[in-house]
Amino acid sequence: MSEATFAVEDLFDGYEISSDKAGPKYLILVCIHGNETCGVEAILALRDSGELFNLVQKGALTILLANKQAYLSKTRIVNRDLNRSIGKLDLSHSYEKERARLVASLIEKADYILDIHSTSLPSPSHAIPCHNNTSELLASSLCIQYMVTKLAHLTVEGGTTMDYAKSVNTCAVTVECGQHDDKSAIETAKNCIRNFLQDQQLIQCKLQLECKGSIEVKEGFQFIQKFKGFDFIKYKQQVAHDSMGQILCPFKQGAYIVMPNLNPQIGEEAFFWAVKTSSDS
Ligand SMILES: [Zn+2]
Repeated sequence: MSEATFAVEDLFDGYEISSDKAGPKYLILVCIHGNETCGVEAILALRDSGELFNLVQKGALTILLANKQAYLSKTRIVNRDLNRSIGKLDLSHSYEKERARLVASLIEKADYILDIHSTSLPSPSHAIPCHNNTSELLASSLCIQYMVTKLAHLTVEGGTTMDYAKSVNTCAVTVECGQHDDKSAIETAKNCIRNFLQDQQLIQCKLQLECKGSIEVKEGFQFIQKFKGFDFIKYKQQVAHDSMGQILCPFKQGAYIVMPNLNPQIGEEAFFWAVKTSSDS
């Protein structure tokens, strides 16, 4: 067992807690977006109570505060989105190049990965597994409200932690624990960490949804109202408009808006569409 305490700064290059028993290598990523702090808050709370060290019963856990500079300046990104930079070889900024390389090397070594985020607009907690069966199974064992499959690899730019985990065939899940400043996001993150490290109890999510695609922000994009994550939109109901015209719900059964973006910039995702999976009627 490693020394039973650490400081936030120790997480900047990856901090390992190992048990005496052989077992899997777990990786928890926090603050890949620097202003999404529920993950690091949860880690520090579990450190202070001593629970974190007891949760690592076998194998080893590495915790990385991925975007240290953005975290210190309380911003989402520094030069470019670090969660669109993993595994990319053509990055022009040395900071993201170095951090992306560190994240990638830890992903390569890990058996199970939990990447903890929060959302800009209010949203129920949800898990976004990498597109493979083990990741979906892991996601369904976490104590969160929704699981959205087939979303992880649909960002406009690629280069997410989930894209990289899939490329090296690792079991990985992103969790969006709630809105950035919502204190309950920290509790959700703590519960996810507990589920992730303990033998998973297969707690079923409230609702399983399948992602059907994203809407990319184009010139003149504007939502017609302030949406929350998982607002239900009926067939042909308008959600937004841009210079091409109205953006309507194209799904006959209606669909949910996932991760609506508070300040959508051209080239980013404005939101994702998800529908109920067929097994779930
Ligand atoms: Zn994020």
